[in-house]
Amino acid sequence: MHILLLGSGGREHALAWKIAASPLVTKLWCAPGNAGIAREAECVALDVADHAAVIDFCRRNSIELVVVGPETPLAAGIVDDLAAAGIKAFGPGKQAAQLEGSKGFTKALCTEFGIPTAAYARFDNAADARAYLRQQGAPIVVKADGLAAGKGVVVAMNLADAEAAVAMMFDGAFGKAGADVVIEEYLAGREISFFALSDGETAIPLASAQDHKRVFDHDQGPNTGGMGAYSPTPFVTAEVHNTIMEKIIRPTVSGMKARGTPFRGVLYAGIMLTADGPKLFEYNVRFGDPECQVLMLRMMSDIVPAMLASCDGQLKNFDLRWFPQTALTVVMAARGYPGDYARGSRIGGLDDAGKIEDVEIFHAGTIEKDGAILANGGRVLNVCALGNTASEAQRRAYAAVDRIKWEEGFCRRDIGWQAVEREKPPGSRKEE
Ligand code: AMP
Repeated sequence: MHILLLGSGGREHALAWKIAASPLVTKLWCAPGNAGIAREAECVALDVADHAAVIDFCRRNSIELVVVGPETPLAAGIVDDLAAAGIKAFGPGKQAAQLEGSKGFTKALCTEFGIPTAAYARFDNAADARAYLRQQGAPIVVKADGLAAGKGVVVAMNLADAEAAVAMMFDGAFGKAGADVVIEEYLAGREISFFALSDGETAIPLASAQDHKRVFDHDQGPNTGGMGAYSPTPFVTAEVHNTIMEKIIRPTVSGMKARGTPFRGVLYAGIMLTADGPKLFEYNVRFGDPECQVLMLRMMSDIVPAMLASCDGQLKNFDLRWFPQTALTVVMAARGYPGDYARGSRIGGLDDAGKIEDVEIFHAGTIEKDGAILANGGRVLNVCALGNTASEAQRRAYAAVDRIKWEEGFCRRDIGWQAVEREKPPGSRKEE
C-alpha cells in the first residue's frame, strides 16, 4: 500500500513509526513531517490546508490511504474532500469533527443522548454569560466554543477570573472560536484520557492514558500542549473502563450515527473520574499528543488494518492486541516554552540515548541541517520507554533523557509520578 500521513509533530512520528512497521506498507510519505519522521517516511513539502494539492499528490503517487494526524485539517473537511475524490482517509468528516470543533455541539449531544457530563449553558453575548456566572458562582469553567489551540478553557476558582475570561472571549481573544462561549459546572476529580476507535457504528476501546499539562514538576506553572504521558493509567480499573465504554463512548457513536453524521476515526475522551462516576469534559477527534506516542509503543497489532477497518465500517469483531507493559514519554521542550523560545539549537546524543533497552525517541519539532539535528519548535522531542512497571518505564526514559546533550532544552523530572507512587507500599506514598 501507498500511504500518506499528514502532520509534523511527535504524534505523527509515532504514527509513522507504527505504520512503517506494517507489512502491508510499501511506501509511506509524510507532509510536512520533521527530521525524525524522515527516517520512517519520505517527507514532502505539501500545504495540508490546500486540499486540491493534497488530492493531486495522492493521485500522482497512487495513495491508497491518507492518515490525518492533527485536528485542523479534520475540522476543515479534508476527509470529505478526499472521499469525494475517491481517496480513502482515516479520521472523521467535517460534520463529525465538530465533536472537537464545537464544545456546544458536544454538550448538546450529551444532553440528547444522556451522556454524563458537567451541567452547562451556551451564550452568544457577554451580558447573558455574566448574569449566568453570577447566578452559578465559582468555581466554574469558561470555554470558547471553537478550536483555540488548547488555550480556550479557563478553570476559574473565583467569579472575578470567570468574568475576566468571559470578557476576554467576547472581546475576540480567540477570534471566531470565541464568538460563542460555553459555561460549565466545575468537575472535581482525577482527570484521565480514554481512546477508542470507531467505524461509525462500532466502537472498540484502545487504551487509557494520563498526560501532564503543566510545564513544571509537581504540576506547577502554565498549561502546555502536554509535557509527558503514560499508559495505561492504574486509575482506569476494569469497572471504570466498562462504565466509560457503556455510558460515554457507545452512546456517542450511536448518537452520531442516529443524527446521520457517523463518527469514524479516533475518539479521544477527556474524562473526570468524579464521586458520581466518570464524566466527559471534552472530546478530541484524533490521537492526543503526547498520548499517541505511548499508545503506539503499547500496540502489539498492526495499526494499518485497524485504520482500514475504521474507514470501511469493519470494526465489528475486530481485535487489537496490546503489550501489557507501561509506556511513558517525557517531552523535552525548548527553554521558554510555552512562552517565547528560540529555534535552531543543536541536539546531540540522540543515537546514544536510543540504545537503551525499550527506549524510542520520537521527534516533535526538529529539522536536520548539514547532518545535525536542530530544535525547531516548542516541544522538540518525546523520549519514550516501555517497562514492566511504571517505575521501570520512568527510570529508562530518564536514563535516555540524561544521554541527550541539549543545553537549550528542559523537561519535567516527574512524569508518571501518580502511577509510580501507586507502586509503592501504601504507607510511603506522596500526598496528591
Ligand atoms: P479542555 O481544553 O476541554 O481539555 O480543557 C482543558 C483543561 O481544563 C482540562 O484538561 C481539564 O483539566 C480542565 N477542565 C475542563 N473542563 C472542566 C470541568 N468541567 N471541570 C473541571 N476542570 C475542567
